[in-house]
Amino acid sequence: MISFSESGLNPDIIKAITEIGFEIPMPVQAEVIPAILNGDEDLVGLAQTGTGKTAAFGLPLLQNLDCKLQKPQALILSPTRELCMQIANDLASYSKYMQGVSIVSVYGGADITKQIQKLQRGVNIIVATPGRLLDLLERGKIVTSSIKILILDEADEMLNMGFKEDLDMILSTIPDGRRTLMFSATMSVEIANIASNYMKSPIEILIGKRNAGAENVSHIYFIAQANDRYLALKRIIDFYPDLYALVFCRTREETKVIAEKLIKDGYSADALHGDLSQAQRDTAMQKFRLRNLQILVATDVAARGLDVNDLTHVINYNLPDDVENYTHRSGRTGRAGKTGICASIIHSREQNKIREIERMLRKKIEPQKIPHGKEICEQQLFHLINSIEHAQYDLSQVASFLPGIYERLSILSKEDLLQRIVGLEFNRLLKYYENAPDLNKTAFSDKNFKNDRNDRDDNSRHRKSGGKYTRFFLNLGAMDGLNPPMLINMTTDLTSNPKIEIGKIKIMPKFSFFECLEQDMNLVLNSFQGVEFKSRKVILDIASDAENNEKPYNTKEKSNKSYREKSGTERNSDKREKKFNKPKRYRD
Ligand code: AMP
Repeated sequence: MISFSESGLNPDIIKAITEIGFEIPMPVQAEVIPAILNGDEDLVGLAQTGTGKTAAFGLPLLQNLDCKLQKPQALILSPTRELCMQIANDLASYSKYMQGVSIVSVYGGADITKQIQKLQRGVNIIVATPGRLLDLLERGKIVTSSIKILILDEADEMLNMGFKEDLDMILSTIPDGRRTLMFSATMSVEIANIASNYMKSPIEILIGKRNAGAENVSHIYFIAQANDRYLALKRIIDFYPDLYALVFCRTREETKVIAEKLIKDGYSADALHGDLSQAQRDTAMQKFRLRNLQILVATDVAARGLDVNDLTHVINYNLPDDVENYTHRSGRTGRAGKTGICASIIHSREQNKIREIERMLRKKIEPQKIPHGKEICEQQLFHLINSIEHAQYDLSQVASFLPGIYERLSILSKEDLLQRIVGLEFNRLLKYYENAPDLNKTAFSDKNFKNDRNDRDDNSRHRKSGGKYTRFFLNLGAMDGLNPPMLINMTTDLTSNPKIEIGKIKIMPKFSFFECLEQDMNLVLNSFQGVEFKSRKVILDIASDAENNEKPYNTKEKSNKSYREKSGTERNSDKREKKFNKPKRYRD
């Protein structure tokens, strides 16, 4: 199907969608509309949010409706109240020229009596959240015998939100004769289980790659120290002058704190989280939709109801706990044919999580340096210059003021004038970033570290507290570019403890030893877990007594051999492939 006119949809529907501005079917529509209209099979559609799913199932559903029958014929389940309302609104606009279509949306957090009254007035399409639907079914307020089509929209989201049992109950209650369509952004085991338990040999329609992030989204990440995370966020925001973004935090508390800080720092931002009343959430979402806000800081759950098409960025202030949630977050941008960026701020020790997400997305997430103050100022400046260069305005509106302005500014040369405009516009930004530090110091391969002390013990560090120390073995050495300051930085950063006490350090060509207080032993061991260094797995372990009396290695050969024998690892430069075995303890 390449056009709506050859889709088999009736003229009333085509007239309505043409008025909305739908000219050509989106890919999911091109596949799903004919499948629903011309067949009677169940269907599983794997498609991201924002790909045009609502019309894909909504248009043929409306076409197949018996408008004279005021009994529920179609039931659409969706994860949130906002999505229910949006689907109901979309269906109402698609059916603008049809007679007798009655759509009722029912969801939690709203007066159930009013919803029951609406249902009793007669309805042929119900859009519901699972919990509220069950409640109504239990009260006997919805007759299911006439339901011919059941649609599960954003099924993976419903499962994520804990609706598994409700869905099982609903799916086993609705009569067998129905047709079931399920849409999901990802194909998880649970989704496959629903398909096999409750659907009859469904056809599978895959829009884009399975479990893939939206094609139009570029994925990037920035490494920041824990203490610099907020500063890194501000730099990212400042670096993109046209940014219109959702910032995801992990908890409600973090959401509140970050939004408050941004507001205090003069950004057009607000928070969206579960501690707000429904009315407050609606207001924040509406302001954001209307672009009265540039940035909305949200939790995963609260953002579920939000539907905005032209976000330029999704920023993960923290990576989601559940890797699959990354797809849901990043799918908020790059919608309706537009491009978008999903940027994550991570701690260096979360790089393995990035690899995990890359595997799931089957896409590379590119590392980026946190922009330096100078780059930000440059970026903003040229954005202004660009907008002056390409300014579109109505001359008649300003014409009458111009002679007075020319006269007033005639004493200034063109250069003076430009200097003043730039100065006025950028003074604050330039001042703020004047001496701003480089936030990229956590990149351990950073050239800032000089390798002039590679092979020496760092005896300049004295044991401060007189407490008991644990000595660690680390499989990185001078040949990896490691030196004492770098090792200290790595340890304080990975443990997120800038004050961690580090005793003696010994950097060998291919490995190192260092001491930390015994009380910090577990923290240090855990913090180094899963860390990669120049694509090599980092191993940190407690050094055995033998090594505590160990003499420095004198020759390269000797150290090479001992290193391999001891740790079972190989460096990247070594051509031979060998399976990596992490030793339980580093021993002779
Ligand atoms: P949905 O995935 O259903 O939320 O749709 C995402 C956005 O795409 C909505 O704003 C729709 O109005 C819009 N949309 C859906 N189908 C089309 C189409 N064929 N042409 C243009 N826009 C569309």
